[in-house]
Amino acid sequence: MPGLSKRRFVQIAGLSIANRILPGWLRAQEPAPGRSSNKVIIVTFGGGVRYSETFAPEGLRNIPRLVGLRPEGYFFKSCINSGVLSHFNSTASILTGNWQRVDDFGFEPPAGPTLFEFYRKQTGAGPLDAWAVATNKSFSSMGWSADQAFGRPYGANVVLPKQLLLEAVQEVVKKGANEGVANRENVLRHLEGILNEGYEGVGWTIFKAGRNLDRHVRETLVRGLVEYINGPEAPTSGDELTFFIAREVMREFAPRLILVNFWDMDVAHWGSYSLYLNAITRTDRLTGMLWDEVQTNPSYKDKTTMLVLPELGRDGDANTANGFLNHRSGDPSCRNMWLLAMGVPHGETDRPIHHIDVAATAAELLGIKTRGFAGTPMRELL
Ligand SMILES: [Zn+2]
Repeated sequence: MPGLSKRRFVQIAGLSIANRILPGWLRAQEPAPGRSSNKVIIVTFGGGVRYSETFAPEGLRNIPRLVGLRPEGYFFKSCINSGVLSHFNSTASILTGNWQRVDDFGFEPPAGPTLFEFYRKQTGAGPLDAWAVATNKSFSSMGWSADQAFGRPYGANVVLPKQLLLEAVQEVVKKGANEGVANRENVLRHLEGILNEGYEGVGWTIFKAGRNLDRHVRETLVRGLVEYINGPEAPTSGDELTFFIAREVMREFAPRLILVNFWDMDVAHWGSYSLYLNAITRTDRLTGMLWDEVQTNPSYKDKTTMLVLPELGRDGDANTANGFLNHRSGDPSCRNMWLLAMGVPHGETDRPIHHIDVAATAAELLGIKTRGFAGTPMRELL
């Protein structure tokens, strides 16, 4: 997939068309003179990964890109998740600056305002200036909170690439065998793996995805993906699809605030240690490619901070032979993570920080005032 040209992707995903059909008032607003133009990308190195498979000495071989980036960025050796150890709550805690205790599977929005809402309400940024692109299928309500003073009018676009892919597959099926779709069975078999992966997605705990995307944009994306999955190149994992769409969003809309949620490594729930390690290395590669994009994209170069952290760890092996399977024990292996910040002064520290400090830090970098965050800004990055 990395070989797929931008032009080809934009053509098949319809992003250029989406760009044209959006009414003018939906376009992201240019920052006013004097307003900060800093951009922030939050990357959940996600799905649940332990220190022992990442920045512990025995884990370094799994993350060659991050190991290479670490000396260029600022590394927090201890980033602690003190909240509920589910994917939705952990990520919502990162975005709201408060430990969230809502439904574990995304059936409720975050309880307090997200960073997206503070950012858009305070700066007047348009809807195309805040995005969440998520592999986790249960993240469709991650874009805005239940807080009535904020909420949907100030939320982020949420894109679930796998859901778009599912809709695209349904389109393919609807077309029938005589509609010129070559190797249809092969295509569907290939994509089945992507669509079904993720233990906690079993049961399809999803809302109508993309509901906050303009209807025409979604239809166009789905139409484009139908061509994409029948084309010569197809994604081999959900995270690759997420990377690709996140990068196209950066190129087309250049938003100032993006959450990129990777999740493939949660395949560990199925019990295969080798698949878990493969997913870690893939996420490492994709995270490195996101930073490469920042460095080569004039809209992002020299004005972007990228904050990379696992949203949670996984159980240790102390009490069970295969701790990597789950993330429910609450032991240090589940909670004690790391954070790597890029685009900031170099350095590292033992000073413990917490997941809820991310939103407060991002708010400072974006030049916005917040209220009610339990977390505090990471002074090392400001
Ligand atoms: Zn999980």
